[in-house]
Amino acid sequence: MRTYLDANATTPMSPEVSAIMHRVHREVWGNASSVHTEGRAARQEVEKARSHIAAAIGATPADVIFTSGATEANNTAISAAAAAAKQRGRTHIVASAAEHPSVIGPLERLERDEGFEISWVKPDTFGRIVRASVLQEIRPQTGLIAIMAANNETGNLFDVPGLISEIRDQEVHIHVDCVQHLGKETVDVQKMGASSASFSAHKIYGPKGIGALYWRAKNRVRAFLVGGHQERERRAGTEAVALIAGFGEAARQAKDLSGMQQTRALRDLLWQGLCDRIEGIHLNGDPNPDARIANTVNVSFDNTEGETLLISLDLAGFSVSSGSACTAGSLEPSHVLVAMDMDPERARAAVRFSLTRNCTEAEICRLLDVMPEIVETVRSAHPSGRDSTSSVPLNSQGESYG
Ligand code: PMP
Repeated sequence: MRTYLDANATTPMSPEVSAIMHRVHREVWGNASSVHTEGRAARQEVEKARSHIAAAIGATPADVIFTSGATEANNTAISAAAAAAKQRGRTHIVASAAEHPSVIGPLERLERDEGFEISWVKPDTFGRIVRASVLQEIRPQTGLIAIMAANNETGNLFDVPGLISEIRDQEVHIHVDCVQHLGKETVDVQKMGASSASFSAHKIYGPKGIGALYWRAKNRVRAFLVGGHQERERRAGTEAVALIAGFGEAARQAKDLSGMQQTRALRDLLWQGLCDRIEGIHLNGDPNPDARIANTVNVSFDNTEGETLLISLDLAGFSVSSGSACTAGSLEPSHVLVAMDMDPERARAAVRFSLTRNCTEAEICRLLDVMPEIVETVRSAHPSGRDSTSSVPLNSQGESYG
């Protein structure tokens, strides 16, 4: 029996989402741009889904543009907002250094190829982006701020409405990556005051390969993909009707946050249980649990390596991630933890537990049962662990690692 604790990387599709997608694949195969009956049936599915997504994020449906995922939504938003800013003579951007690579990548390209200057706002040692640090970077030439509502690695929440309420310059475009926020917190992009925001279906029990860009900015979004009239000229390409229908259902379900209290309790049970059983453990993230999304706890155990722990846990039936799944495969410590000025050893030891909404107490208890031995085994194989165990034998709690 396996326990999946990597929801921030992706989530399993909900049965209702699968059922709707199967039906649409079978029965609604028309092209949503066609005017005949088959086309109109497809259009209906697309618009129904758009309404569900709009309702889940506090937007009007016309401001929701379907994309292939949040990577495309982030790329589109950053490049469109930057192009509009440049037209107004603004070539300065403020961004948090803890953004997802799909935000950092296009920003770095703007810096390299398009003459933009970027002020990266470093998080503090708990991974928190301090509002004043963002505000103090804003200049008259600032045309864009990119900030995420919830960090995928630490789970840290950022008070976006608080920031926006203090920005006096109405000409600054504020793009918010809401990928990890939706389904865990109430999302209301209009109340938040975002100019644009990105979303991804596969983080909310929907299918992979579909996401959305919310675009409310005064200026029209400059399409990233051109060549067709779809999405009102804002994103060319035949609509992926079944994926969109699945996304719509996932978004409809994501509005229901009634399970989050239980998820939060299980996450806190996990953290407390690990602290009680294993010495030399550190939390990578905001120590205030309410300042993190309900499902995430990122920890480092002294004298271990995250990748090795991940593999040992996988063999024991638990799926977790070391750092971010998007950077997995590389032993470089995560850019988020590095930006927090974390000691590289501790950053390389990081393991992220991100609970699905279906996680049970029995699963967390089973994990807590096996963790001390797994950490001890990994420590005894670790170069520094071998050193310490040669002189100080480890007890079953690994207590020689204070
Ligand atoms: N932003 C954040 C915060 C994410 O966690 C992810 C997924 N790892 C993305 C953007 C990219 O989303 P997608 O997989 O839909 O491209």
